[in-house]
Amino acid sequence: MLEQKTYQFGYLEGTVDDLTPEQRADYGAAMAGRNQAYAPYSHYHVGAFLRMNDGTTAHGWNAETIAYDGVHAEESARARITKMARESGLKRAVIVGASEGDSEDCNTTAPCGGCRQKLLEYTKVGDNPEVIMASVSGKVKIAGLRDMLSFAFFPDSISPVTEKGKVAK
Ligand SMILES: [Zn+2]
Repeated sequence: MLEQKTYQFGYLEGTVDDLTPEQRADYGAAMAGRNQAYAPYSHYHVGAFLRMNDGTTAHGWNAETIAYDGVHAEESARARITKMARESGLKRAVIVGASEGDSEDCNTTAPCGGCRQKLLEYTKVGDNPEVIMASVSGKVKIAGLRDMLSFAFFPDSISPVTEKGKVAK
C-alpha cells in the first residue's frame, strides 16, 4: 500500500525595504546586472547576483542569440565564480527580471529549473542558500534553494569516488 506523503516549505514575502542591508545591497547589484542584459528577442531583461560564503560575489545577466539560445543570468554569474569561492559554497542568489524598460513590473522572477540545478552545484552539503526572487519595483520572495528543487539530484546524492576510482563508503 502506498503511503500518502506531503512535501511543503515556507518562504518569505515582502519588499526590498524589509531586507537586511547586505540583502538590499545584493538586490541593487542584481538590478545593476540587469542593465547589462542582451535580450533583443525576448525583450525580457534579467539580472542575477551571487554571494558566496567566503564573501566573493558575481554579477550575471541574460545574453541571447538570433538562434534563440543563450545564457541565463544565473548561469553567467555562476561562470564568474572562481575555484576557492566555489569551494566555500553559495550563500545567496538574487534574481530580478522584467520586460525591457518596465520599472513598474511587480512580478517577482524565479530561477528556471535548469538554473536551480546549476546553483545547487555550488551548494555545500547541508546548506540551503537563500534565493531572493525580486521584481524591479521592489517586491521580494525568499526561499531556500534546496526547497525550491524538491527531490533534486544533489551533488551530495552520490557517494564520493576515491582517487583509485572506487566508491568511498
Ligand atoms: Zn535559467
